[in-house]
Amino acid sequence: MTVMIDGKTLADEIVQHVAQDVSAFKLKHKVTPALAVVLVGEDPASGVYVRNKIKRTEQSGLQSIAHYLPENTTQSELDELIDQLNRDESVHGILVQLPLPAHLSEPRVIEAITPVKDVDGFHPENVGKLVTGQPVLVPCTPLGCIIMLKRQMDDLSGKHAVVIGRSNIVGKPIANLLLQADCTVTLVHSRTQNIEEICRSADILVAAVGQPLMVKEHWLKPGVVVIDVGINQISLDGKRKLVGDVDFNGVLSKTAAITPVPGGVGPMTIACLMQNTLTAAQHQLGC
Ligand code: NDP
Repeated sequence: MTVMIDGKTLADEIVQHVAQDVSAFKLKHKVTPALAVVLVGEDPASGVYVRNKIKRTEQSGLQSIAHYLPENTTQSELDELIDQLNRDESVHGILVQLPLPAHLSEPRVIEAITPVKDVDGFHPENVGKLVTGQPVLVPCTPLGCIIMLKRQMDDLSGKHAVVIGRSNIVGKPIANLLLQADCTVTLVHSRTQNIEEICRSADILVAAVGQPLMVKEHWLKPGVVVIDVGINQISLDGKRKLVGDVDFNGVLSKTAAITPVPGGVGPMTIACLMQNTLTAAQHQLGC
């Protein structure tokens, strides 16, 4: 029987813990940790993500500061806002929702956020710390994946982990975290040859591709633990449906455990953002 890794319940637990720690933090420091979220433009999916993040921020007892900027915001206007948030001592975490409208530079925005408030963990300084194993704000989705894997498996040491996808925000940081957990890691991507064969040797498979239902039953070794990061909208029987990168129903005969989509990695990403905001505030106040 496959174990369903319930990201929603685990995320609720994490948010409850964060809320308790936030209460203690407020009593001790007479300060409420605050997360500033910046959304540029009208992208509907980004709007949903931002609303969910704000809701969770409030549930965690954190202060939520939202900046909704119009689609035609200029790079210098965005730079100016980030600079102001960097300098504002009452703001402890800054998140600029990606993707940005095409005329704005994402690398420039990522580098503009001061590393101590970079709750997404995307700043090159934080990436460098992650790669070299130093304490750091770890990107939220990869952190959520590792927490789920550690809950599911007693020991990750020596396991062969295959990560499909090499993006800076998901694939690469997950690979680094798995390496730190003493896995043997293989990172595969669109140019990889024999991808199915490589996946078949995985004890842990993380799919972060953005290709609906790509990973099939014959790609998997019996007993594999699968983390499906993908969020893809498909049309099924005339209805819109969210699916992952893994053919969920098709692979259940092979998996020891798997994350569903929705209800797996997604909720954990937001819970980890709450944890990172508290961690950022603790560091800024020297605890
Ligand atoms: P990117 O598009 O940035 O990266 C996709 C990666 O997949 C690339 O490395 C690409 O390879 C690789 N790839 C694409 N097609 C194939 C293929 N046919 N075979 C093998 N590899 C392939 O995506 P992200 O990393 O940002 O996101 C991945 C997925 O995760 C998306 O569905 C996204 O929506 C979801 N996501 C979910 C989150 C959550 O909270 N649950 C958070 C963030 C993302 P190459 O580099 O060679 O082009």
